[in-house]
Amino acid sequence: MKKVIVIGAGFSGLAAATGLADKGYDVTILEKNSMAGGRARVFEAEGFTFDMGPSWYWMPDIFDNYFAKFNKKTSDYYDLVRLDPSYAVILEGNETIALPAGVDKLEALFEEMEPGSGAKFREFLRQAEYKYDVGINQFVWKPSRSISEFVSVKLLYDVVRLDVFQSFAKHIRKFFTDDKILKLMEFPILFLGATPENTPAMYSLMNYAEMQLGTWYPMGGMHKIVKGMVALAEEKGVKILYNQEVQKVVVNNGIAKQVITSQGTFDTDAVVASADYHHVEDKILGQTYRNYDEEYWDKRVMAPSSLLFYLGVNKRIPKLLHHNLFFDEDFSLHAHEIYTEPKWPSKPLFYASAPSVTDSSVAPEGCENIFLLIPVAPDLEDTEEMREKYYSILMERLEKYCGTSIRDSVVYKRSYAHRDFKQDYHAFKGNAYGLANTLMQTALLKPTLKSKKIQNFYYTGQLTVPGPGVPPSLISGLLVASELDKEMR
Ligand SMILES: Cc1cc2nc3c(=O)[nH]c(=O)nc-3n(C[C@H](O)[C@H](O)[C@H](O)COP(=O)(O)OP(=O)(O)OC[C@H]3O[C@@H](n4cnc5c(N)ncnc54)[C@H](O)[C@@H]3O)c2cc1C
Repeated sequence: MKKVIVIGAGFSGLAAATGLADKGYDVTILEKNSMAGGRARVFEAEGFTFDMGPSWYWMPDIFDNYFAKFNKKTSDYYDLVRLDPSYAVILEGNETIALPAGVDKLEALFEEMEPGSGAKFREFLRQAEYKYDVGINQFVWKPSRSISEFVSVKLLYDVVRLDVFQSFAKHIRKFFTDDKILKLMEFPILFLGATPENTPAMYSLMNYAEMQLGTWYPMGGMHKIVKGMVALAEEKGVKILYNQEVQKVVVNNGIAKQVITSQGTFDTDAVVASADYHHVEDKILGQTYRNYDEEYWDKRVMAPSSLLFYLGVNKRIPKLLHHNLFFDEDFSLHAHEIYTEPKWPSKPLFYASAPSVTDSSVAPEGCENIFLLIPVAPDLEDTEEMREKYYSILMERLEKYCGTSIRDSVVYKRSYAHRDFKQDYHAFKGNAYGLANTLMQTALLKPTLKSKKIQNFYYTGQLTVPGPGVPPSLISGLLVASELDKEMR
């Protein structure tokens, strides 16, 4: 059996390891932290269970296909519920729009907001479905290592129909004029880490994912996905070693031979690095073997980082749904302060999640589990004072919106931002979600998943193809497993 070392036990590392073990490799994952999940780790405090990162379960088909690939079902590992309403959007003056689950109800809502928009909504979704089908079932499965992968008449035809060269902002305005509808439709694009003006219209596939396929939640929390993936990996024979920070890879004549960690040395026939790409290049491989220099990395457009608060509250909070988006301030100003003139936002938009609304297991009885997230520019100076300043701003708005005091009922509080992303994951510039999905950072234009200098060294994860997010990270892991297997054979 050929040995493969996978660096990191996030979604991409677990998927790569499982894919390789399934193909008959002897796989060991070396993870620096004490648990699997990477950005999707979990922690418990004062009876609360906090998911540390992802909270939106979108594209259930990708998870189902992942487990099905190994003859398993998602339900073998966790129970999913569909959220209805999917989420609430809070606009200026605390006006709230709760988005119902299901296309018929959404069509009626749109018609109410902009007469005549119901039919346009259907047409928009029809086009988005095509984009989802081609984008998710074909494009994201391309390893993007050569232009020849994209040279076929059918694919060229698809590229035109996918609206790759038109911005999402322009595309959406062909269908709707109502400002609230535009906000609702542009929201999922923010997950891609760029503004709707800089995101290809192809990504209306995100609206299809959200509105047609739905917003789901694994009971017990998002970390249940990780637990399921770990159980499956181990069932396939993958060994996962924790508290093993990889420090160096020994390369001989262009071939990786050994991986050295804080605890020991491991012989190997190939390496898959799922830790942050820049960290692997800069700290683990060093100058001789990196694919890209610092100038290249400096020019990348990073998706935002985040300032997060995990709060345990000793009472139930009225009005909050499971997912709540506070779009009650100027979106373009906040976007400007993330992308154009990076600085701490003057008037932040933010996201509040209260999973205890759906799931009583994540908080003690009668209590609320709250997660707050402000998207912020990467690489900002992250101080305790700054975090406290934003805590006050957010709590004031939250208390006003919910009509109740919250601060005096907070029994557990933890903040998390750039410093923590760097320390816990070696995140380049303290990024949360990797690279932005701009046109110039798509497919072949992303950092490649294969080393150009080490024959048996591969990359996976949110900084390479296909991109950030849990479903793309799973795909990235499976993609690299299949590329490595093709070449090793
Ligand atoms: C706050 C937040 C909210 C998010 N919300 C969502 C959401 O709602 N829905 C969604 O789909 N996506 C969401 N995402 C994005 C999603 O979580 C990520 O895209 C995905 O988890 C990335 O997985 P990965 O395997 O590429 O990287 P990671 O999860 O970062 O895994 C890399 C692993 O490598 C390890 N590592 C690093 N350096 C070393 C080393 N030297 N030696 C050994 N191990 C090392 C790390 O500890 C980590 O475990 C969110 C992300 C964040 C941060």
